[in-house]
Amino acid sequence: MPVILAVVGSINNDIVVRCAALPRPGETVSGRDLHEIGGGKGANQAVAAARLGAATVIIGRTGDDAAGLRMRAALATEGVEVLADLVSVGCASGVAIIAVEDGGENCILLVPGANALLTPADVARHAARIRAARVLLLQLEVPLETVLAAAAVARAAGVRVLLDPAPAPARLDPALLTVDLISPNRSEAEAILGRRLPDNAAAIAAARDLVARGAGAAVITLGAAGAAWCADGASGHLPAIPVQAIDATAAGDAFKAALALRWAEGASVPEAARFALAAGALAASRAGAQPSLPRRAEVEALLATAFPTVRSQP
Ligand code: ADP
Repeated sequence: MPVILAVVGSINNDIVVRCAALPRPGETVSGRDLHEIGGGKGANQAVAAARLGAATVIIGRTGDDAAGLRMRAALATEGVEVLADLVSVGCASGVAIIAVEDGGENCILLVPGANALLTPADVARHAARIRAARVLLLQLEVPLETVLAAAAVARAAGVRVLLDPAPAPARLDPALLTVDLISPNRSEAEAILGRRLPDNAAAIAAARDLVARGAGAAVITLGAAGAAWCADGASGHLPAIPVQAIDATAAGDAFKAALALRWAEGASVPEAARFALAAGALAASRAGAQPSLPRRAEVEALLATAFPTVRSQP
């Protein structure tokens, strides 16, 4: 039986365009290679979880525009359950307009659209979905009160919560720090803790600090430097699995979904993080967001090469 994961989060239409140089204020530049792809941290993590083998439901809103209907159909094709009543009539779906410079630098304009209309009442109506899950996966691209409502439903039912505190808010609500597992990237951890994390030792200390501030456990992703973790009174650093990095977009989403999945299957936090390192590395080695998200067999194969003695089957 696959583990059940619930995601309460964003569904965005990513409009990606490449350009030689990003426009400066008042400037018009020519773009090329325009693509529209499914995105949003909630949807990306839901697709990643489904590809890794979880039975996944997303509690997320789209509008009734063409992009919304297309994204809902695409999620369903990936095996993610979408909820029919969470369509906001007459409202635009969330959009991220992403300009990528040839050098790799990017610039993103995010229009939340229907994501901003996901309410605590929506969560209450679908509370049974959260209660049926082994782990609830949250990010911060939908209203804070909705995230808090979802975490409260999970807590009351004994369902463990993994929070990806992204995008980093100016001030993290202290209630968010009391989740079972928090998993920021380096810059989000820096924003939460208010200090730079220049090396692995600082990242391990930061993971311990997140636990001291109330999190059950913490895993901080460090891009090509891997991840630092703290759980069950222990802490440490795990190096990244070396790959030819092409595009780190959605590497974090692949990592968070994989972490949630293995943790839901009963693995310890460092064991689950090791599995997640393989999922993140595979996503970083391929172009795009959702197209780069790996399947379970690929993650198992990479793990078997990287850590021949570690078992990752449920
Ligand atoms: P985000 O995309 O949220 O900023 P990170 O850049 O920290 O997240 O990447 C998430 C995870 O993806 C890392 O912890 C690592 O496991 C994997 N990853 C990212 N970049 C690379 C890379 N160049 N090589 C190997 N693994 C990578």
